[in-house]
Amino acid sequence: MKSKHAIVIGGSIAGLCAGRVLSDFFEHVTVIDRDTYPTGAQERAGVPQSRHVHALLARGRQELERLFPGFARLMSERGAQDLDFGLDFAALRVTGWAHREPEGFKLLFASRTLLEATVRELFRQLPNVTLQERATVTGLLATRETSTLRVTGAHVTPLAAGTPSDMPADLIVDASGRASKAPEWFQSLGLQPPEESIVNGHAGYSSRWFQAPEADRWPREWWWKGIWIDIKEPDHMMAGVLFPLEQGRWIVTLGGMAKHYPPTDEEGFMHALSTLRSPILAEAVRLATPLSPVYSHRAMANRMRHYDQWRERLDGFIAVGDSVCAFNPIYGQGMTTSAVSASILGDCLRQDGVTHADFARRFFQAQAKFQENPWRLATGADFRYPTTEGVRPQGSRLFDPYMNALFAASAQDSVVRQRLVAVIHMLKTPSALFTPPIAGRVALATVRTWLTGTQAPHPAMPPVLMPVG
Ligand SMILES: Cc1cc2nc3c(=O)[nH]c(=O)nc-3n(C[C@H](O)[C@H](O)[C@H](O)COP(=O)(O)OP(=O)(O)OC[C@H]3O[C@@H](n4cnc5c(N)ncnc54)[C@H](O)[C@@H]3O)c2cc1C
Repeated sequence: MKSKHAIVIGGSIAGLCAGRVLSDFFEHVTVIDRDTYPTGAQERAGVPQSRHVHALLARGRQELERLFPGFARLMSERGAQDLDFGLDFAALRVTGWAHREPEGFKLLFASRTLLEATVRELFRQLPNVTLQERATVTGLLATRETSTLRVTGAHVTPLAAGTPSDMPADLIVDASGRASKAPEWFQSLGLQPPEESIVNGHAGYSSRWFQAPEADRWPREWWWKGIWIDIKEPDHMMAGVLFPLEQGRWIVTLGGMAKHYPPTDEEGFMHALSTLRSPILAEAVRLATPLSPVYSHRAMANRMRHYDQWRERLDGFIAVGDSVCAFNPIYGQGMTTSAVSASILGDCLRQDGVTHADFARRFFQAQAKFQENPWRLATGADFRYPTTEGVRPQGSRLFDPYMNALFAASAQDSVVRQRLVAVIHMLKTPSALFTPPIAGRVALATVRTWLTGTQAPHPAMPPVLMPVG
């Protein structure tokens, strides 16, 4: 039998994915957002990050398609580009230009606004959901049942006309993002919030949108559809990417680490493009027409709220997405992780049901188990920079030399490279990087480099600034 009512606080990617799963288990689901939703793929105040590049990992695409059948088709119909990164991107890695070879799966390249608008449209088609706009959740309602506290609803304050009201629910899901007010709500109920870990790599983005030049103005050597230029310490602390978007647009984002924040003004931004490791991005942009000012974003620290170890007990309340675990977005993990969390929620609801005494605790534990890998990946990579602040995950230092050798080996060995790509896209867990065959190939590549003093040259990686198609 279905439970009656679930409330999701926040109707962005995590909230819509969780709401989709809940609609299978509850008679009605209300997703509440403080924003007014735009009619199409437009910006809104609650998701300022939509002005910056958003990569949807291969696993994220799979999960969104599973939750919202028809997602990829709808995205393509609206102009998202369905590309194989390995074939369609000119990618300058630390070791040089990447080999042009298929990665074996396609990724959707589109604006974050299109992605969210598409998910929102598919969500709205569900028969038993309400998407309530212009309303802010300002607190939780709870009652004491013998020894435990149970959430029974939410205080909802409309932003336009109307008076604040209490909305009853059997389950409340916090999906209100990085700046969630849940810790304050817990304190009003007399509970200590869960502990938090923050790992700050002092990263920053600056982004600008462009209309790509007409096809007949593209120089003949431009075979690529997108560009990716990695950071290379110590001289190049800024990465640069160009992603193709719907409507023939490009988004160009500069990402700086270790306090090397990219410029926030137009002149500085355009100059910074020409200081990247290759002039290719600056040259591309020279032929394009700017469509926006330069947007900047600095709230990019990794932040984990340890609900799985929470000493307090609050039945009927769970949290998903960035409100639990937000990453440095340079690694593109947030949306995918949110979508996977929704699937984990479905598994827990199927196994235990929402009335099980330990439902919330079991969900938090299962979610934390999954989030541990992307957390380690993002924080481990950030800790490569000495200016990064926070507590290192245990044992991560031990793996640094191996990971360095693995990245170096991936430039020469396509088997290692494909495995690494599968892990980055969350199609495999990081343990797949430590299997004996992969470790053997990494060792071989390392020995070869020691013996020759250089990395084995790859025929498709000439030492030139422009990538060869
Ligand atoms: C600069 C930047 C770039 C990023 N790039 C990528 C990328 O390349 N790939 C990727 O996968 N992820 C990326 N991310 C992360 C991604 O944006 C998030 O992980 C994703 O949006 C899921 O977040 P969320 O739904 O938990 O929260 P959010 O997207 O932050 O949404 C929170 C929602 O809650 C609403 N809200 C907040 N408080 C209340 C309240 N009290 N009552 C009602 N509503 C409320 C807000 O209006 C908003 O709609 C990036 C993030 C940043 C900052």
